[in-house]
Amino acid sequence: MRKNKIALKEIVSYAKKYGFIFPTSEIYDGIHALYDYGPYGIHLKNNIKEYWWKSMIQINKNIIGLDTSILMHPKSWKASGHIEKFKEIFLYNKRKNYSYRLDFWLEQIFKRTSKGDKVVCKKFGKIKTKKNNLKKRIIQYIDDNIVFKKYKKILVLVKQLKQITNSKDQWNYLYEEKLMFKIDFKQQTIYLRPETAQGIFTNFLNVQNIRKFQLPFGIAQIGKVFRNEQMARQFIFRMREFEQMEMQFFINHKEEDKWFKYWKNQRLKWHLTLGLGEKKYRYFEHEKFAHYAKKAYDIQFNFPFGFKELEGIHSRRNFDLKQHEKYSNKQLRVFDKENQRYYIPYIIETSVGIDRIFLAILSASLKMEVLKTKTKRILLKINPYLAPIKAAIFPLLQDKRLIAYAKYLFNSLKTSFLLTYEENDSIGKRYRRQDAIGTPICITVDFKTLKDKCVTIRYRDSMLQERVLIKNLKQAIKQETSIKKLVTKFLML
Ligand code: ATP
Repeated sequence: MRKNKIALKEIVSYAKKYGFIFPTSEIYDGIHALYDYGPYGIHLKNNIKEYWWKSMIQINKNIIGLDTSILMHPKSWKASGHIEKFKEIFLYNKRKNYSYRLDFWLEQIFKRTSKGDKVVCKKFGKIKTKKNNLKKRIIQYIDDNIVFKKYKKILVLVKQLKQITNSKDQWNYLYEEKLMFKIDFKQQTIYLRPETAQGIFTNFLNVQNIRKFQLPFGIAQIGKVFRNEQMARQFIFRMREFEQMEMQFFINHKEEDKWFKYWKNQRLKWHLTLGLGEKKYRYFEHEKFAHYAKKAYDIQFNFPFGFKELEGIHSRRNFDLKQHEKYSNKQLRVFDKENQRYYIPYIIETSVGIDRIFLAILSASLKMEVLKTKTKRILLKINPYLAPIKAAIFPLLQDKRLIAYAKYLFNSLKTSFLLTYEENDSIGKRYRRQDAIGTPICITVDFKTLKDKCVTIRYRDSMLQERVLIKNLKQAIKQETSIKKLVTKFLML
């Protein structure tokens, strides 16, 4: 583990060793791209969700939450366009029996410095323009909802791109894979949802009926989604089952730019409060949109394998509600008082994968420190609120009186915080274990405690220690670890 740069494989082995993430059904050798969250991982994940939920629902009086079903009526997916258009296109190399996602290949080609790129300016300019034109034409074919006969045309363009970039990749043909998992249910095919958004749109009327919201207003949801990813890799970055936090914000179409900009800023601000470092984030504007989107920005994070999408902000306009109106024969509209008419609002969507935030947190917060004593410590330097365990309580030694007192403290504080109690090994080893899982505070009961009713608090990052009166302990832990601090930081930024 180098000081600031942690390789993905080091994160994977840390996550397993310290109880954050395990490969699923590991005793049967696991299944590719599916993972289980361990005893500490589950708390970190829940804390991320709670922070997002509060930042959406609690502080915005015009955003409410839902929890909709994973399995939906199949017509929902016909209406949303997913049955037909939710797919990826792959390049295939026959000799190596190897596939690569077309959009990933394009991304790679455009990052690569070809021989051509090194040629003097004039020529480089020409090549760059040619490259961009070819890319534009490929994207156009994809956007036209390509049918098989267009694949041949794309392949010709891909081969031209290959030539001018001196790429050695050999591609024989293109094919597509649908991304939704199907299951049989009472003799019909239904689907595991690939996004939570559709449950929000199909409940638009129900929400309207109970709240009569005026525009703008939002509906948020956290939930599991499933995608039959063909190039599932990079640990929990790309999985086949993962969790999303999505918010659909319904607006007047005239205010599309205003709200798009607002949510783009708000979401980056939210990520910045996690304290992983401003330089780790950047915006990326899409040239190619998902079938439902008309405007799209990603917030990218610098993962151990480079900058990749963390969150998407999309303008879905009125695509989804219009489609659901058509397929359901129900009016999904709001009343415009000014013009005295009902109309379909536009939608700005913010959509983020919890697992990707989790990976971002691990990759930016996991440190290997060499201490003054030349010993090493693994440190998970995360925001104290996100820490799986808020405080650890130890008796200094295995002494009956100290154990009884430490257990009494544990019991008196356990209803307020998620704590752990430990009495095995030396105090140093216990500190190391807690540092490695990110516990912000360790509390030690010693012989002096029995007399002065004070305990020693030791802080994770600074390793500084202070004596605190037991009657002030609850307040001290609260001050260090409360979610209020994080939400307030978000509001102030
Ligand atoms: P990508 O381009 O990486 O495939 P996407 O553009 O398909 O992602 P969206 O459909 O916009 O992703 O989904 C919203 C969010 O869900 C993403 O920003 C990401 O955080 C998360 N996400 C998407 N696919 C996966 C996956 N396979 N595993 C984990 N998280 C994912």
